[in-house]
Amino acid sequence: MTEHEITEVGCLIAGSWVTSGPRVDRVGPWLRRVVSTARQAGEHDVETALGYAGTGARMVARMSPAARADVLDRAAAEASRRRDDLARLLALELGKPVQDGHGEIDRVADTFAVSAAEARRLGGEVLPVAGWARGVGTTALTYRAPAGVALAITPFNAPANLLAHKLGASFAAGNSTIVKPPPQAPASSAAVVRLLLDCGMPAEAVQMLHGGAAIGSALSAAPQVAVISFTGSPATGAAVARAAGAKRLVMELGGNAATIVCEDADLAAAAAICAATGYSNSGQSCISVQRVYVDRRRYAEFLDLFTERVRKLRVGDPLDPATAVGSMVGDDAAERVVGWAREAAAAGATITTGGERDGATVTPTVVADPPADARLIRDEVFGAVVSVSPFDDFDDVLATCNDSRYGLQAGLFTHDLRRVVTAWRELEVGGLIVNGSSNFRLDHVPFGGVKDSGFGRESPRWMIDDYTVLKTLMLRGL
Ligand code: NAD
Repeated sequence: MTEHEITEVGCLIAGSWVTSGPRVDRVGPWLRRVVSTARQAGEHDVETALGYAGTGARMVARMSPAARADVLDRAAAEASRRRDDLARLLALELGKPVQDGHGEIDRVADTFAVSAAEARRLGGEVLPVAGWARGVGTTALTYRAPAGVALAITPFNAPANLLAHKLGASFAAGNSTIVKPPPQAPASSAAVVRLLLDCGMPAEAVQMLHGGAAIGSALSAAPQVAVISFTGSPATGAAVARAAGAKRLVMELGGNAATIVCEDADLAAAAAICAATGYSNSGQSCISVQRVYVDRRRYAEFLDLFTERVRKLRVGDPLDPATAVGSMVGDDAAERVVGWAREAAAAGATITTGGERDGATVTPTVVADPPADARLIRDEVFGAVVSVSPFDDFDDVLATCNDSRYGLQAGLFTHDLRRVVTAWRELEVGGLIVNGSSNFRLDHVPFGGVKDSGFGRESPRWMIDDYTVLKTLMLRGL
């Protein structure tokens, strides 16, 4: 794609890219011009896709796991070859720096490779039923059958890797998947689907319908869909669940992640890590560092080190490889985020750096000691603002972290094993990162939340449990 090209994408329905639907343009938040155009799906497309997926699911289920794994392994290698092109699309559609985009595409490659490995490991169990008197004389076995048709609904902030997670594991499990990508990143999403088709994924295994709430809701309600994997905000997740009724659901929702810095921490390392991971993708990550709690004895020192680091982050053109912080997804989002920082300041907090925006670009912002009821503390900021607050007692800070409707991941900087074990046990989160911030993820480790952050664990090995149906066989009289 050259500087002035517009990528036009259609819906992928029943093996063809359909370009007859109405156009919706995506204006890139940094370039402030149309960068992609997506042809939208209509009601008729939903019906066609659902019918084709039902037939497709039977075909994919008949493909051997070895053949499915080969496709995914080829896709892993191909993602690495297309790394620059894909990162560029992410930068144009979302304002995501190519630095972050390259990181996302490296993870796409990992996710496909891990999905391939899981396809090769699909299996079952011989159950020890003879240990109970009624089981004597019976042999019981299980295996995991594909669920059938899966629906994957993805958010804008990591549209390539989250699509890779959902589609990779679903295909590994033997399903046909319908993808509903975010309206903000249609071309980036279509590029990942195209990559898989180029690597031999059969058309029966994947379809993609562009659109917003109406299409997402119609697909969620469809009886042909056996399982829905949704990533997005809690409000949308609840709407999906209402439309879905009694379907199997995996919900990966929002967060306001906390990171704790204890008095024995390597403060320079903690400040550097929190600066790098609190503002990557302009803070638009569900596990982005949002609340940092520092032992009061080291609070002033940490705040200085952290503010210094944040000031040094290079802000600007997402296409420049030296840029660390690009633009947010849109001007509205940037305005909201800056508003929350100013609101906290009006309530007594101090903005030590940032607090401004230029278009959709928010200057990395540090807010010192906001009141506990500030939106910056209580809600999901999903932007380039990090709050830093002091704490006096370790047990109290764990309670402060837990005083949230969310619970996705937390970070803890300490070398004290007692604190590590206490935090692991007490924090109401899906994962704890020690000597790292909340914003760290390995794609082959289970990831997901508690409370309003959702349920289910994304990562191919665990997602395959959700994408399959456990079937038992009991043999008697043999
Ligand atoms: P969003 O909820 O606005 O949209 C997510 C997806 O749902 C989009 O594809 C959207 O078009 C679709 N959608 C909207 N209304 C729908 C409806 N009624 N029925 C079905 N689908 C519908 O989220 P977003 O702004 O794109 O993403 C940001 C959110 O995602 C944040 O809350 C963030 O924390 C969360 N997120 C969570 C994780 C995780 O793994 N837990 C990862 C990334 C992002």
